[in-house]
Amino acid sequence: MKLYLSVDMEGISGIVDTSYIHPESGVNYQRGRQFMTDDANAVIEAALASGVTEIVVADSHHTMNNLLWEKLHPRARLLAGSPRDCSMMHGLDASFDAAMFIGYHTRQGVPGVLSHTMSGVVRNLFINGRVMGEFGFNAAIAGLYKVPVIMVSGDNLLAKEARELIPGIHTAIVKEAVSRTAAICLPREEATATLKEQTKLALGNVSAIAPFRNDLPLELAMEFSHAGQAEMAAIVPGTRYETSTNTVSCRTDDPQDLYKTMRAMLNLASQAAFF
Ligand code: ZN
Repeated sequence: MKLYLSVDMEGISGIVDTSYIHPESGVNYQRGRQFMTDDANAVIEAALASGVTEIVVADSHHTMNNLLWEKLHPRARLLAGSPRDCSMMHGLDASFDAAMFIGYHTRQGVPGVLSHTMSGVVRNLFINGRVMGEFGFNAAIAGLYKVPVIMVSGDNLLAKEARELIPGIHTAIVKEAVSRTAAICLPREEATATLKEQTKLALGNVSAIAPFRNDLPLELAMEFSHAGQAEMAAIVPGTRYETSTNTVSCRTDDPQDLYKTMRAMLNLASQAAFF
């Protein structure tokens, strides 16, 4: 059995604010990297004990160079660094039996530890009219390859967001959100045990969870914070700009196209100054 792990940082055990996730300015960043590697290793260990024979771990935060390669479980292959065409989901294809999202967070505009969608410029992201965060967008990408997302880890609110999109998904809740930058964290050993337990439960019945399904072609719509960002995003060929809503959209049924178009819009929008 072949497993794909996309590992973000905001939802990792023990991480509550940006001091853990900023490579340059985070006073707790080195600790955060260790916590991230520990969470990934807990999942990898449990997955190998549950019949998984091949694991690809995609470092999926910021510049995607956070996991400690030298401390990662020796049976996992690490995909590190950026840019990558499919960013947080790069390398996933139909040959995988399942995917898990570790250390994920809630979407922009709702409570949850370090909630956001991709970057600060996105107010809302929609797939086929349904608002989604990184969890939903990446689940939709996996769905295009017909790969089910069977487990997610993060805070209690992310677990709820995930269950609304994928009923029956296993959730490893490693902290209870108190505010966007505060949480009650499970003790270290309990968090590790939760990650292992949910991994084993998920892999015990992979076929119980269907791949995420959407009508094709998918429509991706990105609502930006101000018109300047939307105008920049609309430079991307094949996109449509709804001026009244600062929303730029595109349609495709190709996962690589979808990811690349989203990234191009995001990068261009980030260039727009407000004042
Ligand atoms: Zn992140």
